[in-house]
Amino acid sequence: MSEPPADATGPQTLMIPLIEATGAITLPGELNGRSPRRPRRGKRLRVDWPACKGHALCSELVPERITLDEWGYPLIDDRPLRGAALDHAKKAVAACPTLALRLVDVTSR
Ligand code: SF4
Repeated sequence: MSEPPADATGPQTLMIPLIEATGAITLPGELNGRSPRRPRRGKRLRVDWPACKGHALCSELVPERITLDEWGYPLIDDRPLRGAALDHAKKAVAACPTLALRLVDVTSR
């Protein structure tokens, strides 16, 4: 392969260093194989607030995703549930004494 002439000043010669310096494009490998536009699908926990009585049982069954506020009502981590967290969430939904906790399919970007 031949080297470009020492005095190469065409548009490509000028643009590539500019793009690299400004980060104007995403280079291969920077997304860790994920598309930035792919929706994050999955089951998420939702609370029916009028039905919730603050028993706090859910936070004991899904401690990795549910904490309690100062009055004992659940604060839900809204990330999609997978693996053991999803299993725990299903148990918490089944155990909620007022049927206030449920799992929903949500697609968000
Ligand atoms: S177990 Fe049900 S009623 Fe009790 S705090 Fe959790 S969601 Fe509310």
